[in-house]
Amino acid sequence: MTPPTTIKTRHDSSRNAAALRAAPGACLVIRGGRVIDPASGLDRVCDVVTEGGVIREIGKKLGAPSGARVIEAEGLIVAPGLIDPHVHLREPGHEYKETIASGTAAAVAGGFTSICCMPNTSPAIDTPELVRFVYDKASLSGRCRVFPVAAGTKGREGKEIAEIQLLHKAGAVAFSDDGDCIASAQVMSRVFAAISQTGSTFMQHCQEPTLTQGAAMHAGTVSARLGLTGWPRMAEEIIIERDVRLLRHLRSPCRYHAQHVSSAGSVEIIRRARQDGLPVTGEATPHHLLLTHELCENYNTLAKVNPPLREAADVRAIVEGVSDGTITILGTDHAPHSAEEKSLPFEDAPMGMVGLEFALPLYAEALVASGAISWPRLIALLTVEPARLCGLDVLGLGTLCKGSPADITLIDTSAKWKIDPASMVGKSKNTPLAGRRLTGRAVCTIVGGVVVGAE
Ligand SMILES: [Zn+2]
Repeated sequence: MTPPTTIKTRHDSSRNAAALRAAPGACLVIRGGRVIDPASGLDRVCDVVTEGGVIREIGKKLGAPSGARVIEAEGLIVAPGLIDPHVHLREPGHEYKETIASGTAAAVAGGFTSICCMPNTSPAIDTPELVRFVYDKASLSGRCRVFPVAAGTKGREGKEIAEIQLLHKAGAVAFSDDGDCIASAQVMSRVFAAISQTGSTFMQHCQEPTLTQGAAMHAGTVSARLGLTGWPRMAEEIIIERDVRLLRHLRSPCRYHAQHVSSAGSVEIIRRARQDGLPVTGEATPHHLLLTHELCENYNTLAKVNPPLREAADVRAIVEGVSDGTITILGTDHAPHSAEEKSLPFEDAPMGMVGLEFALPLYAEALVASGAISWPRLIALLTVEPARLCGLDVLGLGTLCKGSPADITLIDTSAKWKIDPASMVGKSKNTPLAGRRLTGRAVCTIVGGVVVGAE
């Protein structure tokens, strides 16, 4: 299988990074953990020393400089800070659901040190000013690094191409109309051509709109029983198939990322495209790796999500896709909604569920406990892979290499705990998994050499 070519991209994240930089000289010694850095192939028990916000040294039995803070990490995994390429922070416009402050607090609670936020805000992030607004707000109130994904079309209306070059220069790390699909093949191919000039990535919300009008959940036995309009798999597959076809016809295709893959057929289309050497990636969410449409029984709006939860065979195919290297990106699609909104009748309630605070143990359950992949591969899927997708590797993120920003997540793989909405820090608590027992937890989150979450 030919992996997609990595095209390096540049953008200005200095505003955001500045606020997170540790005081010069601040020093941490993380002692005796299993240090896993897939980007450099490192996996061994040793110490990590950070200073001035960067990784200074990795090795056995390193001394602690005077004044250093020592963190005992025996029995823990010491990983590069986790990266989530698919988050909805709801700011500007829907601050009652989530803000940059509350969403990044949820992120660091879950072990994430960098998140990419989607542009379906109000207004949509479709101008350089709005890209800068996100960086500025994150530098003031963010607990971790925030990288905006900009809209591919103006107002996310799927009609007029956004100012791709200017948005890229302003620091947009990728492009997406997420929440909506770019339905017009003509507009889509123009957006691909414009993005290919920047070396950036287009992230598609794969949903053919005419096949999903009024759809509330997966088209299957449960939707039939509940009398709800179904969202068929083919509405997702048709878009990925179409986009892959458009990319084949471009002289230099841009990088293409299929968000939140929900159907077994989509996994197969992505597998074929990658085998043909196209720069295509696919993304799996925690819920599509574990849950099925039966959860919508009793009109449970907390299980209403877009694309919908499907069937056990789809879940198996997505896990298999991660296992064989077809799916290389994990994203939570953290989608906060208020309790009032989720109390509406099923047809009217908004789609989405939160995920940042407990994604890691859900990924571990679906992928590592099941035997599909190892912990080091899971760490790769949460660090170096999304860093490359969004060009964050150029900033030194997604690795523990000497000199890179000291973004580090400590993981206790055997910690037992339970999802409790009362103790969640995000503004919205919309999850169908309250009370679920979990194994594994991020116990310490470090951004730029500063401990920002837990111990
Ligand atoms: Zn989406």
